[in-house]
Amino acid sequence: MKVDFNRQYVSGNEIKYIEEVISSGLTSGDNIFTRKASALLESKYDFNKVLLTTSASTALELACMLAKITDHEVIMPSFTFPSTANAVLLNGGMPVFADIDENYNLCLDDLESKITSKTKAIIVVHYAGTSCDMDRLVELAAKHKLIIIEDAAQAINAKYKDKYLGSIGDFGILSFHQTKNISCGEGGCLIINSDSSKVNDAEIIREKGTNRASFIRGDISFYNWVNVGSSMLPSDILAAHLLAQLEQVDLITSKRMKVFNRYYEAFSELAINFNFRFIRVPEYNTTNGHIFYLILPSQLIRNRLMNYLKDRGISSYFHYIPLHSSPKGREIAKDLNLEVTEEKVDCLLRLPIYPDLGEKEQEYVLEQVEIFFKLNRDNI
Ligand SMILES: *Cc1c(COP(=O)(O)O)cnc(C)c1O
Repeated sequence: MKVDFNRQYVSGNEIKYIEEVISSGLTSGDNIFTRKASALLESKYDFNKVLLTTSASTALELACMLAKITDHEVIMPSFTFPSTANAVLLNGGMPVFADIDENYNLCLDDLESKITSKTKAIIVVHYAGTSCDMDRLVELAAKHKLIIIEDAAQAINAKYKDKYLGSIGDFGILSFHQTKNISCGEGGCLIINSDSSKVNDAEIIREKGTNRASFIRGDISFYNWVNVGSSMLPSDILAAHLLAQLEQVDLITSKRMKVFNRYYEAFSELAINFNFRFIRVPEYNTTNGHIFYLILPSQLIRNRLMNYLKDRGISSYFHYIPLHSSPKGREIAKDLNLEVTEEKVDCLLRLPIYPDLGEKEQEYVLEQVEIFFKLNRDNI
């Protein structure tokens, strides 16, 4: 048997919507499907304003521009995707890497100890659709007058208490990359929550520094160059693909959660006999089944399990190399020690999870992990 790590979901309406766009001739951005997809996100998740972008990376860059990050420090976890740090560096700022907590999210004690007079913003990354204690983060940010950017790339449809992730910070970003829960191949969005006056600025930056968005709405009779900007608006063809997926986000999430919960139950039992842990969803979160990970006792055992599964046709993966220990990160964060990150990252292994992962395939994964544990009983 062969079990893929991830397989993109198909809602069934993608081709129909894409065909509508192409036959309308209105394939550039900010047309019917861009507006529909943005409106759906705004109403469903209580986001104040949503602007689709070509990726979450672009949305992070846009957020940093709107936050007016220049020569400031921005604190973020080291355990994240490079885009989080790139967005700050591209704007002339300096990423400051903080440690993680037991759920691979930003450690708020370490964050607090790293705030200086140069700190302007915090980028919090909601790993695996879980979060840190957002009430405490909001309090800390208010106390030190810091901007919060939520990197919710993995966290669509996930919650902190009764709020959707991405709706809490000043800005939020989502990713619609092929590997994420909702996808249009490549895509993302910026969420502007607190300051509506930023919407106009964001539209201008996203449209090559022009006020074309106002022109399309009919507010002005022609458009021209009004500020520095770039090209960050996705084609309506991508928005059509996205809308077909977004309309089924609850179904997609529930299918993923079914797989998630099956793993959860099976590993809860197995953990009675073997020394390992697995993803824990904090009480205050409702997760979206984006990732299911195991935490093995050591990197050696993690790698052995990964290879054992690979030899049996099952794809499993570790995750980010912490940024502070990557070649680029070492240049900017010399001699940085992040104890929990260094200890925990090497023990993480992500198992296959996607909406259409069959019960038989999942049984096979569980069976093979259990056999590995039994064979390696003395080490685990
Ligand atoms: C996937 C991901 C990104 C990048 O998303 P793109 O849409 O591919 O740019 C950024 N941050 C995190 C935490 C991610 O998981």
